[in-house]
Amino acid sequence: MRLVFLGPPGAGKGTQAAKLSTKLGVPRVSTGDILRRNVAEGTDLGKKAQSYMDSGALVPDDLVISMTERRLKEPDARQGFILDGFPRTLVQAQALAGLTPIDAAVNLFLEPEDLIKRNTGRRVCPNCEAVYHVLMNSPRKEGHCDRCGTPLTIRPDDRPDVVRARIETYDRQTAPLIKYYRDRGLLVEVYASGLIDEIFHRVLEALKI
Ligand code: AMP
Repeated sequence: MRLVFLGPPGAGKGTQAAKLSTKLGVPRVSTGDILRRNVAEGTDLGKKAQSYMDSGALVPDDLVISMTERRLKEPDARQGFILDGFPRTLVQAQALAGLTPIDAAVNLFLEPEDLIKRNTGRRVCPNCEAVYHVLMNSPRKEGHCDRCGTPLTIRPDDRPDVVRARIETYDRQTAPLIKYYRDRGLLVEVYASGLIDEIFHRVLEALKI
Protein backbone atom coordinates (compact mmCIF):
# COMPACT_ATOMS: atom_id res chain seq x y z
CA MET A 1 0.00 0.00 0.00
CA ARG A 2 1.04 3.55 -0.70
CA LEU A 3 -0.29 5.85 1.96
CA VAL A 4 -0.01 9.44 3.12
CA PHE A 5 -0.67 10.52 6.71
CA LEU A 6 -2.07 14.01 7.19
CA GLY A 7 -2.82 15.85 10.41
CA PRO A 8 -1.61 18.73 12.55
CA PRO A 9 1.53 18.46 14.69
CA GLY A 10 0.70 16.26 17.66
CA ALA A 11 -2.13 14.35 15.98
CA GLY A 12 -0.11 11.14 16.29
CA LYS A 13 0.96 10.67 12.67
CA GLY A 14 4.37 9.26 13.58
CA THR A 15 2.99 6.81 16.14
CA GLN A 16 0.20 5.50 13.91
CA ALA A 17 2.38 5.43 10.79
CA ALA A 18 5.01 3.38 12.66
CA LYS A 19 2.42 0.83 13.83
CA LEU A 20 0.96 0.52 10.36
CA SER A 21 4.41 0.18 8.82
CA THR A 22 5.09 -2.82 11.07
CA LYS A 23 1.73 -4.38 10.27
CA LEU A 24 1.97 -3.91 6.50
CA GLY A 25 5.71 -4.53 6.18
CA VAL A 26 6.31 -1.33 4.22
CA PRO A 27 8.65 1.46 5.34
CA ARG A 28 7.49 4.56 7.15
CA VAL A 29 9.05 7.54 5.46
CA SER A 30 9.16 10.50 7.84
CA THR A 31 10.50 13.64 6.19
CA GLY A 32 10.89 15.19 9.66
CA ASP A 33 13.14 12.29 10.76
CA ILE A 34 15.22 12.47 7.57
CA LEU A 35 15.64 16.23 8.01
CA ARG A 36 16.58 15.89 11.70
CA ARG A 37 19.18 13.26 10.77
CA ASN A 38 20.64 15.67 8.21
CA VAL A 39 20.76 18.45 10.80
CA ALA A 40 22.48 16.13 13.32
CA GLU A 41 25.03 15.04 10.71
CA GLY A 42 25.65 18.60 9.54
CA THR A 43 24.99 17.84 5.85
CA ASP A 44 24.38 20.63 3.32
CA LEU A 45 20.68 19.83 3.39
CA GLY A 46 20.71 19.90 7.20
CA LYS A 47 22.39 23.29 7.24
CA LYS A 48 19.83 24.70 4.82
CA ALA A 49 16.88 23.17 6.69
CA GLN A 50 17.74 23.93 10.30
CA SER A 51 16.60 27.54 10.63
CA TYR A 52 13.20 26.76 9.10
CA MET A 53 12.71 23.79 11.42
CA ASP A 54 13.78 25.72 14.51
CA SER A 55 11.18 28.39 13.87
CA GLY A 56 8.29 26.03 13.05
CA ALA A 57 8.26 26.97 9.35
CA LEU A 58 8.35 24.58 6.43
CA VAL A 59 11.61 23.69 4.72
CA PRO A 60 11.43 24.91 1.06
CA ASP A 61 9.53 22.62 -1.29
CA ASP A 62 12.39 21.95 -3.73
CA LEU A 63 14.66 20.60 -0.97
CA VAL A 64 12.00 18.37 0.58
CA ILE A 65 10.67 17.12 -2.75
CA SER A 66 14.06 15.99 -4.06
CA MET A 67 14.91 14.40 -0.70
CA THR A 68 11.61 12.46 -0.65
CA GLU A 69 11.91 11.47 -4.29
CA ARG A 70 15.34 9.93 -3.57
CA ARG A 71 13.98 8.06 -0.56
CA LEU A 72 10.97 6.64 -2.42
CA LYS A 73 13.27 5.26 -5.13
CA GLU A 74 15.11 3.08 -2.61
CA PRO A 75 14.36 -0.66 -3.04
CA ASP A 76 12.45 -1.08 0.24
CA ALA A 77 9.83 1.46 -0.88
CA ARG A 78 9.04 -0.28 -4.19
CA GLN A 79 6.23 -2.41 -2.72
CA GLY A 80 4.70 0.46 -0.79
CA PHE A 81 5.36 3.13 1.82
CA ILE A 82 3.72 5.23 4.47
CA LEU A 83 4.55 8.88 4.14
CA ASP A 84 4.56 10.67 7.49
CA GLY A 85 4.83 14.45 7.18
CA PHE A 86 4.86 14.64 3.38
CA PRO A 87 3.24 16.24 1.45
CA ARG A 88 2.76 19.42 3.48
CA THR A 89 1.98 21.84 0.64
CA LEU A 90 -0.03 21.66 -2.57
CA VAL A 91 3.21 21.87 -4.57
CA GLN A 92 4.50 18.80 -2.71
CA ALA A 93 1.21 16.94 -3.26
CA GLN A 94 1.41 17.66 -6.98
CA ALA A 95 5.04 16.49 -7.06
CA LEU A 96 4.07 13.26 -5.30
CA ALA A 97 1.22 12.68 -7.76
CA GLY A 98 3.74 12.98 -10.59
CA LEU A 99 5.98 10.43 -8.92
CA THR A 100 3.61 7.66 -7.86
CA PRO A 101 -0.10 7.01 -7.34
CA ILE A 102 -1.25 6.61 -3.74
CA ASP A 103 -4.03 4.43 -2.35
CA ALA A 104 -5.27 6.78 0.37
CA ALA A 105 -4.51 9.84 2.46
CA VAL A 106 -5.35 9.27 6.13
CA ASN A 107 -6.30 12.50 7.89
CA LEU A 108 -5.93 12.30 11.68
CA PHE A 109 -8.11 15.00 13.24
CA LEU A 110 -8.36 16.19 16.83
CA GLU A 111 -9.79 19.03 18.97
CA PRO A 112 -7.41 22.01 19.43
CA GLU A 113 -7.16 21.48 23.27
CA ASP A 114 -5.96 17.92 22.70
CA LEU A 115 -3.31 19.15 20.29
CA ILE A 116 -1.59 21.35 22.86
CA LYS A 117 -1.62 18.51 25.42
CA ARG A 118 -0.17 16.08 22.91
CA ASN A 119 2.61 18.38 21.80
CA THR A 120 3.85 19.35 25.23
CA GLY A 121 4.20 15.73 26.48
CA ARG A 122 6.22 14.29 23.61
CA ARG A 123 9.66 12.79 24.32
CA VAL A 124 11.92 11.32 21.68
CA CYS A 125 14.89 9.01 21.58
CA PRO A 126 17.79 10.85 19.93
CA ASN A 127 19.37 7.50 19.07
CA CYS A 128 16.65 5.31 17.51
CA GLU A 129 13.92 7.94 16.92
CA ALA A 130 11.30 6.12 19.02
CA VAL A 131 8.58 8.49 20.23
CA TYR A 132 6.95 8.51 23.69
CA HIS A 133 4.46 10.65 25.56
CA VAL A 134 4.57 11.35 29.28
CA LEU A 135 0.81 10.75 29.64
CA MET A 136 -0.22 8.51 26.79
CA ASN A 137 2.76 6.31 26.02
CA SER A 138 5.34 6.55 28.76
CA PRO A 139 8.52 4.45 28.64
CA ARG A 140 8.93 1.57 31.11
CA LYS A 141 11.90 3.27 32.78
CA GLU A 142 11.13 6.96 33.21
CA GLY A 143 13.09 9.17 30.83
CA HIS A 144 14.75 6.27 28.96
CA CYS A 145 14.07 4.59 25.64
CA ASP A 146 12.49 1.12 25.91
CA ARG A 147 14.31 -0.06 22.80
CA CYS A 148 17.86 1.15 23.32
CA GLY A 149 18.03 2.68 26.83
CA THR A 150 19.16 6.12 25.60
CA PRO A 151 17.99 9.08 27.75
CA LEU A 152 14.96 10.68 26.09
CA THR A 153 14.94 14.31 24.99
CA ILE A 154 12.39 16.98 24.11
CA ARG A 155 12.44 17.95 20.45
CA PRO A 156 13.64 21.56 20.18
CA ASP A 157 10.62 22.40 18.05
CA ASP A 158 8.25 21.15 20.79
CA ARG A 159 8.79 24.37 22.78
CA PRO A 160 5.35 26.01 23.27
CA ASP A 161 6.10 29.04 21.06
CA VAL A 162 7.38 26.81 18.24
CA VAL A 163 4.42 24.42 18.64
CA ARG A 164 2.10 27.38 18.13
CA ALA A 165 4.02 28.40 15.02
CA ARG A 166 3.91 24.83 13.68
CA ILE A 167 0.14 24.63 14.18
CA GLU A 168 -0.27 27.97 12.35
CA THR A 169 1.96 26.71 9.54
CA TYR A 170 -0.19 23.59 9.34
CA ASP A 171 -3.46 25.58 9.16
CA ARG A 172 -2.12 27.87 6.47
CA GLN A 173 -0.11 25.53 4.25
CA THR A 174 -1.04 21.91 4.94
CA ALA A 175 -4.76 21.90 5.85
CA PRO A 176 -5.70 22.69 2.19
CA LEU A 177 -4.44 19.19 1.34
CA ILE A 178 -7.52 17.74 3.04
CA LYS A 179 -9.66 19.19 0.26
CA TYR A 180 -7.07 18.23 -2.37
CA TYR A 181 -7.29 14.54 -1.42
CA ARG A 182 -11.05 14.64 -0.76
CA ASP A 183 -11.63 16.01 -4.26
CA ARG A 184 -9.64 13.07 -5.65
CA GLY A 185 -11.62 10.49 -3.65
CA LEU A 186 -8.55 9.49 -1.62
CA LEU A 187 -9.30 11.01 1.79
CA VAL A 188 -9.89 8.76 4.79
CA GLU A 189 -10.80 10.57 8.02
CA VAL A 190 -9.84 9.16 11.43
CA TYR A 191 -10.67 10.71 14.80
CA ALA A 192 -7.35 10.74 16.63
CA SER A 193 -8.38 11.17 20.27
CA GLY A 194 -8.14 8.25 22.71
CA LEU A 195 -5.68 5.46 23.32
CA ILE A 196 -3.02 4.63 20.75
CA ASP A 197 -4.46 1.15 20.10
CA GLU A 198 -8.03 2.47 19.81
CA ILE A 199 -6.91 4.98 17.22
CA PHE A 200 -4.93 2.31 15.38
CA HIS A 201 -8.08 0.18 15.24
CA ARG A 202 -9.95 3.10 13.67
CA VAL A 203 -7.15 3.52 11.12
CA LEU A 204 -7.35 -0.15 10.12
CA GLU A 205 -11.14 0.00 9.88
CA ALA A 206 -11.09 3.19 7.84
CA LEU A 207 -8.59 1.61 5.42
CA LYS A 208 -10.53 -1.70 5.43
CA ILE A 209 -7.41 -3.65 6.40
P1 AMP B 1 7.78 16.63 11.72
O1 AMP B 1 8.72 15.72 12.44
O2 AMP B 1 7.04 15.93 10.60
O3 AMP B 1 6.87 17.39 12.63
O4 AMP B 1 8.71 17.72 10.98
C1 AMP B 1 9.53 18.59 11.72
C2 AMP B 1 9.88 19.80 10.88
O5 AMP B 1 10.59 19.39 9.70
C3 AMP B 1 8.70 20.61 10.36
O6 AMP B 1 8.22 21.53 11.32
C4 AMP B 1 9.30 21.28 9.14
O7 AMP B 1 10.13 22.37 9.51
C5 AMP B 1 10.21 20.19 8.58
N1 AMP B 1 9.48 19.32 7.62
C6 AMP B 1 9.15 18.02 7.75
N2 AMP B 1 8.49 17.56 6.68
C7 AMP B 1 8.38 18.61 5.83
C8 AMP B 1 7.79 18.80 4.56
N3 AMP B 1 7.14 17.81 3.92
N4 AMP B 1 7.88 20.03 3.99
C9 AMP B 1 8.53 21.04 4.60
N5 AMP B 1 9.09 20.95 5.81
C10 AMP B 1 9.03 19.74 6.42
